[in-house]
Amino acid sequence: MNSRPVYGAIEAGGTKFVCAAGYGPMEVPDGWREVIPTTTPQATLGGVLAFLERIRNEAGALAGIGVAAFGPVDIDRRSHTWGSLLTTPKAGWPGVSLVKPLERFGPVAIDTDVNAAALAEARLGAGKTADSLAYVTVGTGIGGGVIAGGRTLRGMLHPEMGHIPVRRDPRDDGFAGVCPFHGDCLEGLASGPAILARWKVQLRSLPAAHPATGIIGGYLGQLAAAIALMLSAERIVFGGGVMSDERLLPQIREAARRQLAGYLPVEARAGGFDRLIVPPALGDRAGIGGAMLLAEQAAGER
Ligand code: ZN
Repeated sequence: MNSRPVYGAIEAGGTKFVCAAGYGPMEVPDGWREVIPTTTPQATLGGVLAFLERIRNEAGALAGIGVAAFGPVDIDRRSHTWGSLLTTPKAGWPGVSLVKPLERFGPVAIDTDVNAAALAEARLGAGKTADSLAYVTVGTGIGGGVIAGGRTLRGMLHPEMGHIPVRRDPRDDGFAGVCPFHGDCLEGLASGPAILARWKVQLRSLPAAHPATGIIGGYLGQLAAAIALMLSAERIVFGGGVMSDERLLPQIREAARRQLAGYLPVEARAGGFDRLIVPPALGDRAGIGGAMLLAEQAAGER
């Protein structure tokens, strides 16, 4: 029997929960990974518990469990609702604890999915040669996580950088935006649903001459510039479904460069904007990898 500590990792998403177990972020043995659709809390968390039970039977006690969760979620350890989902629009899930049911398998750490992805990219991916990194995901929503001094940034809640206001592109004047809270915040203008609401198809299906990529890249470039100004991050990773349009990243770099107007010494550093604003190095493994790093933290803090 293998005596190395075994960690559990749960990437809790709005459409699926990815469960994995292993000896480290990139060491998941065959058969120790399972995908459970997000339906009701009872069914989905029941599936997670069955997975952990199976791992415990096969591997012995778990040293720690990390949860990378969709949000908003309470990640404040001092709070009595620590580990619970907050005002998520996902029916049946507000108030559900993603931590309590798991605690009988070992110590649990929880963070947002984007903070976890940021942690994995910072340690193992795009940020290995940087001290600070932000990870932005552009998909159904827009979220961002931040690593500074080796830890994820958290506070009153967690970063919610998708909801910042942005300056409107004049070519995009007639569109009200889709955010139920703010209308035309960044998420309201540049998320996947906002793109569909305006142009009826995904960004990558639009022809090269269409202004959409420039408009969306412009909004996301404003976020990149804001991150550079506020957090002084050395790497800004853009991932998520909308980023699968490869025309977008160069547009974001160009918009950020325009917006910053030479104020920060980005171009004086090696690689300039190409090194500041980058795609994920870990692809879709960042979430589960980050959850595994959280599990190691949970084990260490016991
Ligand atoms: Zn908003």
